[in-house]
Amino acid sequence: MAFRLAGQPGTVNDHFRDALCDVFTGMGLDPLSPSLVGTPDRFLRALAEFTGGYDLDPGEILGRTFPVERSGYPISVTNIPFTSVCEHHLLPFSGLAMISYIPSEGAEVVGLSKLPRLLDIYARRLQTQEQITKQVTTALDKHLDIDGAACILGSEHGCLANRGARKPGAMMVTGSFTGVYENPEVRRDLLAMLGGPSAYR
Ligand SMILES: [Zn+2]
Repeated sequence: MAFRLAGQPGTVNDHFRDALCDVFTGMGLDPLSPSLVGTPDRFLRALAEFTGGYDLDPGEILGRTFPVERSGYPISVTNIPFTSVCEHHLLPFSGLAMISYIPSEGAEVVGLSKLPRLLDIYARRLQTQEQITKQVTTALDKHLDIDGAACILGSEHGCLANRGARKPGAMMVTGSFTGVYENPEVRRDLLAMLGGPSAYR
């Protein structure tokens, strides 16, 4: 049996709200109780925030470039905080990212804020960490004139920390390397320059 709650019209879809009420009812809880009556709307608003990346276009974010006097060398942003939602358990995972690219000689570069914004386009979706890592380097390769891209993500997953294996503090670290960063020597230079992979924990 579905419950129809008095909510804020237009903020969430009634069908989704009713479905969440059915979950509570299935658990033997009263979705109309004062403590739960606002929960479906809150949950759906949070979900909308977590998945806002579907509406954003990486080409637009990476579309504005500017010339620099000297290119052809690595440009990296480290310690970028991110939060995503695991598509298997609908639980959040959060951590830090490092993104790097090497513009081709003479090529234009993007503004500093664009790499964290690119990350959020993919993080703010239902995701796997492996997928985000790869999508970031694929987008850099596709939209910029570069010789290579790298992305390393380190994060703690709600589904590993709080359920199942229950290992809070365990970090998942993933990396994607393209172009010249596929060369182990170039990759080693990058990691040495940034202080090593442990910097991303
Ligand atoms: Zn999961």
